[in-house]
Amino acid sequence: MLGGRGVKAAISFTEITMKIKPFWKNYIDGEYSDGGAGRLEVTNPADGSLVAEVAMANAADVDRAVAAARRVQQSGVLAAMRPVELGRLVRGMGDYIMARKDEIATLLCLESGKPYWEAVIEVEGAVRYFEYYGNQAETIEGRSIPLGAGYLDFTIYEPLGVSAQIIPWNYPLEMVARSLSAALATGNSCVIKTPELDPLSAFYFAEAAEAVGLPKGAVNIFCGYGPEAGAALAGHHDINQVVFTGSVQTGIAVATAAAANVVPAVLELGGKSAAIVMPDADLDQLMDSIRWGIFFNAGQVCSAMSRIIAHADIHDEVVERAAAIATSLDVGPGIERREFGANMGAMVSDGQRDRAEGMCRDAVAQGARAVTGGHRLNREGSFLEPTVFDGVAPDMTIAQEEVFGPVLSVLKVDNDADAIAVANGTPYGLVGGIFTRDIDRATQAARQIRAGQIFINEWFAGGVETPFGGYGKSGYGREKGREALWNYVQTKNIAIKM
Ligand code: NAD
Repeated sequence: MLGGRGVKAAISFTEITMKIKPFWKNYIDGEYSDGGAGRLEVTNPADGSLVAEVAMANAADVDRAVAAARRVQQSGVLAAMRPVELGRLVRGMGDYIMARKDEIATLLCLESGKPYWEAVIEVEGAVRYFEYYGNQAETIEGRSIPLGAGYLDFTIYEPLGVSAQIIPWNYPLEMVARSLSAALATGNSCVIKTPELDPLSAFYFAEAAEAVGLPKGAVNIFCGYGPEAGAALAGHHDINQVVFTGSVQTGIAVATAAAANVVPAVLELGGKSAAIVMPDADLDQLMDSIRWGIFFNAGQVCSAMSRIIAHADIHDEVVERAAAIATSLDVGPGIERREFGANMGAMVSDGQRDRAEGMCRDAVAQGARAVTGGHRLNREGSFLEPTVFDGVAPDMTIAQEEVFGPVLSVLKVDNDADAIAVANGTPYGLVGGIFTRDIDRATQAARQIRAGQIFINEWFAGGVETPFGGYGKSGYGREKGREALWNYVQTKNIAIKM
């Protein structure tokens, strides 16, 4: 791996890039191995240059990984540990990652296109999951249920067993961290398929698992094609659950495969989330939320603020100021954008950029007005202009379907009831936001919006501690927070006749 174990942060960028391994193997049953499906080139979307090659797993590799994870479960070694010890191992994995923050962030920046400073935030976010769920490990307690004088009854929580996790490309490190940390803290062994576009940085979790002394097979990480390795994992007869983050279409396939084996699935899918802006909103606060809500990670965020529903009174000012934010962003290669600031990197691939640009073209054809942006940048790399659309009607494609890019649609409404109806008028329901100084109005709207998480006056308010997940086509189950722990355990009731 980059720099190898024991190398501390604070080496220079050039030193780090020179040390990137040219070929990354899969980590299965404690060994690094080639993949049965050959190799794939991982490229930097900022300039198309080769970052490294990665081994691609086939169905036989998936079998080996699941068998290793199953063996660890059957040994009972994780379930037998005192939770405080298991929690320390999980926290130790986070410490391992944190000690290599610079090199992991550099690699993540190169393979995904995001600015370096955003990659640093992602590494720190990943570490936070290991801290949080490491700490939670010893808080999972059963209860005693009164059954009268003749009985003693109690519940215990047991790990589900083998947790299969299928990861998307937009946060390839944090999404692994989210499910891996919670699954390990509850005593599961894990089989993880990383995304094809940016699979490399997640291999640091393999190093971390080894470094803290987890048994071989407790953590398996490989890359592979979705329809091949992903489908083989989701439909494997010997997994006990599947956690999927990605598109609705793939989520349906994964859940269908899980259902055929009668194992639970957690689906974290897409969104078309809206911020409702009331006439009394603090627009400075809103602008800060727009900067993060739709332009962070070039808008490739499932919970992005992709729509603003503005009351007529403040609509024009919102559009004008949102466009000013978009045009203020300096867009270019992530590796040159090292400091937090008004900048944005590449999208993850030409394919994603082209798809988003095509949706912008369709929006104009359907009558929306591009206040700014809507096109690729006139330079090499997968760059799209930060874009703001006005005059968007609720039934336009741009208002209904996820762009997964830096594209904001502004819709105008006359009253709160219409705002709620428009906010709820898509098949999704991941998050929602309300901007107002009127707490009654805010809480009423919060109750009426169909979404798993509501932000009042700050988009993305919350953290690893707060449950996250969707209504409707945004999926089911909750990740983050204590809520997510119950994804990874099952309840056993024990009744004793005295
Ligand atoms: P995707 O569905 O194409 O791929 C996600 C993962 O599934 C990848 O690892 C892919 O290889 C794998 N896959 C593809 N086909 C498969 C199959 N038939 N069986 C099993 N696995 C398969 O999604 P993507 O393009 O990587 O990610 C973008 C989407 O993910 C967006 O819609 C976004 O909203 C969503 N997303 C949601 C969240 C969330 O937490 N709700 C987070 C990130 C991304």
